[in-house]
Amino acid sequence: MKIITDEIDIKTSKRLEIIDISSKIAEIVKKHGIKNGLLNIFTRHSTSAIVINENESRLIKDFENILMKIVPENETYGHNTIDNNAAAHLRSFLLGGSQSIPIENGYLDLGTWQSIFFVELDGPRNRKVKITIMGQ
Ligand code: ZN
Repeated sequence: MKIITDEIDIKTSKRLEIIDISSKIAEIVKKHGIKNGLLNIFTRHSTSAIVINENESRLIKDFENILMKIVPENETYGHNTIDNNAAAHLRSFLLGGSQSIPIENGYLDLGTWQSIFFVELDGPRNRKVKITIMGQ
């Protein structure tokens, strides 16, 4: 079994932005020639998240709207006295910063309607996402 680490750079352009990174992750699987195993994707930033869901434009808009509704921007949050981005951290808490995906026969074994998204919650920024693959 091999353990491979890699990284992708993501340049975001909005405060809240949901970016499909499935093809970038698929390229990494291909590049390293892993046929079977497990891929973990991990964001190294506490104001971003990694989620898996359907890339359908109305659903993405619904997701943005619900995030803003569940964690409103202009509440009185304690963390805002430090760096004024509590809403971004709180949204990240709820979504989580990593996902694991099986690799089978050289491909990510995602469901037909599943895509991997990087969720920017405090952009625009330059972000790094870490990929770890365990397999052969
Ligand atoms: Zn902060």
